[in-house]
Amino acid sequence: MRPEEFRPAELARRARHALTLEFRAGAQALELPILVVRGGGPGPVLVASAGVHGDEYEGMRAILETVAALEPADLRGDLIAVPVVNVAAFRGRMRRSPLDGADLARVFPGRPDGSPSELLAWHFDRFVLARADFYVDLHSGGITWEMPLLAGYEASDDRARAAALAFGAPVVWAHPEIPPGRTVSAARARGIPWIYAEARGGGRIHPQDLAVYRRGLVNLMRHLGMLAGPPEASPPEVELYGGGDTDASLCSGAEGLLVAEVGLLEQVEAGQRLGRLVDLLGRTIEEYRTLRSGRVVLIHACPQVRAGEPVFLVTGPGTPPR
Ligand SMILES: [Zn+2]
Repeated sequence: MRPEEFRPAELARRARHALTLEFRAGAQALELPILVVRGGGPGPVLVASAGVHGDEYEGMRAILETVAALEPADLRGDLIAVPVVNVAAFRGRMRRSPLDGADLARVFPGRPDGSPSELLAWHFDRFVLARADFYVDLHSGGITWEMPLLAGYEASDDRARAAALAFGAPVVWAHPEIPPGRTVSAARARGIPWIYAEARGGGRIHPQDLAVYRRGLVNLMRHLGMLAGPPEASPPEVELYGGGDTDASLCSGAEGLLVAEVGLLEQVEAGQRLGRLVDLLGRTIEEYRTLRSGRVVLIHACPQVRAGEPVFLVTGPGTPPR
């Protein structure tokens, strides 16, 4: 259907609906698959998305399985779930769109007359995200990186912190500021509270990550009063505070084979070597030393590194000042 025709409030209650929004960017056909679960009575609208990056599979499967397992009559309000936002990137088995090379999570809120990625962002923002009372965006390390299983939120938003704790990931990460261009910065601009989540990645779906994501979606619906009962969440094992912008990572200046010397969530000290890049004769080309003390939250898990890629990201431990 055309995006303007998507009116979830007019769909039948106590039912699941599957539909595809179709639109064009010039000659290029684009699509946005959407699953709607309409509850038995009025309540909040939760928008959940995955696959903003096409190679992040944990959230895609968590959304499909959560929707399939949800009994509409048990739900108050509506779940609007997009299992794969960036279908072209998913088909290309890529993080970025193969149509224009853009990172979809850098072009929000998009433009109606822009590139395919800008157009996709614009349609998602206007016709899907705008319906939300709360928004959750599920990411992961994708094929290239590895990240801890975590829920992230904006430190100044107490609603988001409460939701991140209810989600029940073993790590929560509070961010002092949110860079532009993200789905969540678009939600923020609309005044919609949000969290996002990261999982390990590696181009595989680890059973533990899938289980936490599925439970997290149910927990979020309980937290929002859409499902009965309290969230089943233990306090997080680790609380992180600091910038979550992966663009601020230590980046490679050359291509080579990465020898990482630290693991995810490892506590490191300023100046410590996190790893090195070797050439195909085993000679060290580059060393990566952290500028700050903190915990490792991103590692280039694919050993083959190209020039200019994020290799390590370190963030500070501790809870936000409040
Ligand atoms: Zn992502």
